[in-house]
Amino acid sequence: MRVTWKPDGDVWHLGFRLDPEDGLDGTVTDGQAVRLATNSCRIQLPRRVADVHPDLLALAAWTVVAPWTTRRITFDRPVSPDLAAAVERGWGIEVGPVGGGPRAGGRLAISYSGGADSAAVAAILPDSPLVHFQRVPHPRVPNRWTHYRSDVLAKLAARTGRELTITRSDLEFTLAEPRPGYPEHHAVTAGAALMADELDLGGLAFGYELGSRWLGGGRYLLRYTPDNPMWSGDGRWGRLFQAAGLPIVLPVGGVSEAMTMRLALTSELRPYVRWCLRGDGGPCGECGKCLYKELIHAAVERRPLKTAITAARPVAAKWQKPPPYGGQEMIEYGCARVPGIETTPFGVAAGHLGATVESTSWLDHCYRPALEEIPDPWRKQVTDFMAEEVGFMTEDEERRVRDWGQA
Ligand SMILES: [Zn+2]
Repeated sequence: MRVTWKPDGDVWHLGFRLDPEDGLDGTVTDGQAVRLATNSCRIQLPRRVADVHPDLLALAAWTVVAPWTTRRITFDRPVSPDLAAAVERGWGIEVGPVGGGPRAGGRLAISYSGGADSAAVAAILPDSPLVHFQRVPHPRVPNRWTHYRSDVLAKLAARTGRELTITRSDLEFTLAEPRPGYPEHHAVTAGAALMADELDLGGLAFGYELGSRWLGGGRYLLRYTPDNPMWSGDGRWGRLFQAAGLPIVLPVGGVSEAMTMRLALTSELRPYVRWCLRGDGGPCGECGKCLYKELIHAAVERRPLKTAITAARPVAAKWQKPPPYGGQEMIEYGCARVPGIETTPFGVAAGHLGATVESTSWLDHCYRPALEEIPDPWRKQVTDFMAEEVGFMTEDEERRVRDWGQA
């Protein structure tokens, strides 16, 4: 793989060429198979920046091209020995050219989507600037995904009144299958990486919570994953971001989505929280994400589910089958707490899971080992917040995390 960055005013163009051994079919760190659509993308920054450290350019490029790189990567500027070593050790990929020194910065920025998880992070770190990624169409790929209202999310982020940097990019359209999206989940930070020197960033905080970090949530393995390659400090991505002077920080890595929901909705950011990518006036109420988050929302408020979605609808189909489910800990939590769950699209799942308030109360507290992963300058602030607002898991509750999916 060969990559080239070309700045043009406030826009940075990334071009890449496959080496003979590289193919159009690749694999993301989480195991998802992806197919390449096109070999260029651009990132528009809020302003022209004078210079970007080669390690930041390499990091941003790697979040896009990693799935399709088989044996070696050639950058257009020499990267530091540390960055090269992180790629070589993490992926077994040969890196060149190598030269020059590492970079460093001071401030912690939040990779802010506007969903409940990143809003909770913003509530925990009230002085940290937000960096928002906004999808824009690609000039060479037809946009069949116009229902994705990235403009609405960017406007909501602006209304928070926080220091905000919006970066716009079409990088998701480099990916043809299964659909446009981040080639690697970390590509959401490509714009933040290019702005990191300009903003003096020394760390990036994400909204990945207990399920994503420790329970192999989403479409990953449903088991305890202390060595999660995506988000753990000494995982391949953790070491790479560290080498670029932007360590990954997970302020809500020790708490469940129920807690991030509660923290977000009891914060001053509440009016701007939006997890649905579709609606313009408000969340669409029709998509799978809306249904899943409504279960958590209703559980946190201990009220019946408010949804027009029935069990017969395609978005509810997965809940009519037996487990395992993605985000299963939250399905258990919701089913145990929402009154009248039997008559909702989660009724069948509730019957299979048999969860109770007692069996899911560990999800109300913070898992301490997650705090130990937070780099020094920011650990105390997050720990103090968790002690005050959430409380810590007992030994028995921590064991529930470690035993997740092992039975
Ligand atoms: Zn929706």
